[in-house]
Amino acid sequence: MKTVKLISKQAFGEFDEMMPVPDNINKVLIKIASIGVCGSDMHYFKHGRIGDQVVEYPYTIGHEASGYIEKIYGDSFGLEVGQLVAIEPAVSCGQCDQCRAGRHHTCRHIQFMGAPGQIEGLMCEHVTVPIQNVFPVPESFSPNEAAFVEPMSIGAYAVKLGQISENDNIGIIGVGPIGMSVLLSLKYWGNNRQYVWDKLDYRLENAKKTGVLWSGNPDKIKIQKELQKIIPEELDVVFECCGEQEALDTALEVLKPGGRLVIVGIPAEDRISFDMGCLRRKEISIINVRRQNHSVEDAIKIVEHFRPLDDFLITHTFNYDQTNEAFKLVNDYADNVVKAVIKF
Ligand SMILES: [Zn+2]
Ligand SMILES: [Zn+2]
Repeated sequence: MKTVKLISKQAFGEFDEMMPVPDNINKVLIKIASIGVCGSDMHYFKHGRIGDQVVEYPYTIGHEASGYIEKIYGDSFGLEVGQLVAIEPAVSCGQCDQCRAGRHHTCRHIQFMGAPGQIEGLMCEHVTVPIQNVFPVPESFSPNEAAFVEPMSIGAYAVKLGQISENDNIGIIGVGPIGMSVLLSLKYWGNNRQYVWDKLDYRLENAKKTGVLWSGNPDKIKIQKELQKIIPEELDVVFECCGEQEALDTALEVLKPGGRLVIVGIPAEDRISFDMGCLRRKEISIINVRRQNHSVEDAIKIVEHFRPLDDFLITHTFNYDQTNEAFKLVNDYADNVVKAVIKF
């Protein structure tokens, strides 16, 4: 038997106790259509935690979802029942200093769907979410593509934070779903100067389909040495999209003085280190990316521009009763998986 789970209690019950929620927050009942298995979900699957966010069972994870509007409570703001929407999983208070400064993603009272101890996740059949967290997508989108809007918004936001120009030479470390989102966002905004590396050859092949200047596998070649030959002036910006110490070390080696390191990946360890001598001598700026801010609409445009995403991004679709298999596949990087999606 299928289970129906409403998150409105979690979303608004605890929320109410923490702060006054304006009465005019309207809610939408969504029938979930597709939900992606994310790298951060894998941290919960493998380690039961990310940093101090520890899973206490039972708990529903998942935050990369799309679904159909089933019911609108209160003002519809132009939304319609039956419409396919992407769900933005971060719920901000709208009142704190961060929200007032337009930094909703670092809201002092932020509650994230699928982050343990916050709001229940979206890997379920029905959810109730605040109306400002749903974004209608073009009719051409499949539910899987609508679910990919969430990871794409992180790539888009990272590129905006990196303040990239068309002529910047860019390194991308790790071309999984987030690295690919960075790559596609760069291309969408007119930068076509990407050098990418990843330990999985099939992911490099994937990235090459979108057209990159160079790709390499750090298990087979010394990245810094190879890049030195083809681009002696070194890279302007490196996006670290895999959360590995080794990748951060390589980033410092290949960046030019005055270069920017944009950290998008989530390391499994609580602490990472940098070669301070190199960091200082080259005067490298480090930019941290916290999920996304004001980038969902951009992400929808980018998905629309590059869709269909099935061949090179959304490689696997599972039924909800095969969720365990989906997680195992992603955990093992099996069958050339990039993004696995669960269908409800
Ligand atoms: Zn994610
Ligand atoms: Zn706030």
